[in-house]
Amino acid sequence: MKKKNKIELISLGCSKNTVDGERLMKQLELNDFEFVDNSKDAESVIINTCGFIEPAKEESVNTILEAVALKKKGEIKKVIVAGCLSERYMEDLKKEIPEVDAFYGAEQYEEIVRGLGGNLKKNLLGERVLTTPNHYAYLKISEGCDNPCSFCAIPLIRGKYRSFNEERLIGEAAALAKEGVKELILIGQDTTDFGKDFYGKRTLAAFMNRLTEIDGIEWVRLLYAYPSHFPQNIIDQIASNPKICSYIDLPLQHISDDVLKSMRRGISKRKTIELIDKLKSGIPNLTLRTTFIVGYPNETEKDFDELYNFIKETEFDRVGIFDYSREEDTTGYPLGDSVPAEEKERRKAVLMELQREISAKKNETFVGKKMKTIIDRLEGDYFVGRTERDAPEVDGEVLVEKDVRISKGNFYDVEIVDFNDYDLFGRLS
Ligand code: SF4
Repeated sequence: MKKKNKIELISLGCSKNTVDGERLMKQLELNDFEFVDNSKDAESVIINTCGFIEPAKEESVNTILEAVALKKKGEIKKVIVAGCLSERYMEDLKKEIPEVDAFYGAEQYEEIVRGLGGNLKKNLLGERVLTTPNHYAYLKISEGCDNPCSFCAIPLIRGKYRSFNEERLIGEAAALAKEGVKELILIGQDTTDFGKDFYGKRTLAAFMNRLTEIDGIEWVRLLYAYPSHFPQNIIDQIASNPKICSYIDLPLQHISDDVLKSMRRGISKRKTIELIDKLKSGIPNLTLRTTFIVGYPNETEKDFDELYNFIKETEFDRVGIFDYSREEDTTGYPLGDSVPAEEKERRKAVLMELQREISAKKNETFVGKKMKTIIDRLEGDYFVGRTERDAPEVDGEVLVEKDVRISKGNFYDVEIVDFNDYDLFGRLS
């Protein structure tokens, strides 16, 4: 009885899934469900899965099996599976894991609420139960993607590109600001496409400006920008608006023209370099994050060397490296998977080592400087925070000496006194 209506929601994968999960939590909360953060205290477990690449799929399946094991032991009553893996492989999953009570697709939150005996509060769709520290929040501005990247299954799972209603997003952002959110992190599969379906043109720059006019919002941060149609006015907006972080996450995936062509990225090496030059010259103190894929089918040693030299010359601030994951039904699938797994690992390790050196060299330049830092949490002897250069969960952090003047969720000017490869160390002056 004491577990009645208690739910644990496990959100896997990317920040877009996090936001979907937060919206679902709000709807269920409004239907008198209560959230617990441990399966053992729950009557039902909902797993919001990720189905993007192999490692993510494995993690989702293992999490489902763990919940099913608890159900078999009678510790929980219901296992509910939703999200991208379920959207992509529902019929297989139903056959392979029949113990699951219900499978839902990627955007079936109304069905989940009704399946649990509730009803959807349509007028509160933007409302969320924040699962991030309440001074920052992800703002998901669109769904789906129109880009034809050969390796990517997301358009198969999430469909064609759709901007969310701008007025509703402004309302959502204002509600978040009222709850204490100071930093909004813009996410979508391709944030640079924002507005094209509503206004016939990309309006992200103006939208970001509107967000900075909301009381309480101090930082607006841009993730998931797409290189081949990067609007110039975003550069001007970021450069001129102090509330927009001089930070851009711009996944590039590769630089060799042969590989970019095969990946259907819609941009060449020359155009990529031109864009980066424009970004760096147009935005003072820009922090540029990107991601690359190694081991794409037929990636030659020459292609890899080209990528190595490009990273070395460009000196990105933040770099993520992924092994190519061959995904069914993508246009790249018929190309096979020619680069052996060990060679993918070797190439990834070589690039990570290169980036570690670049990151350390850049971090050293901040010693002695004062940096505006938001404090996320207390951990051991340090308050842990982030500067404009750091997106949560993926970038470096600032470890700030304990000080009675500090409290979580606030901004401080922190004097940087030391560094390591990825993080900075500082204290209040
Ligand atoms: S931009 Fe490319 S990689 Fe990103 S979600 Fe769209 S298709 Fe996938």
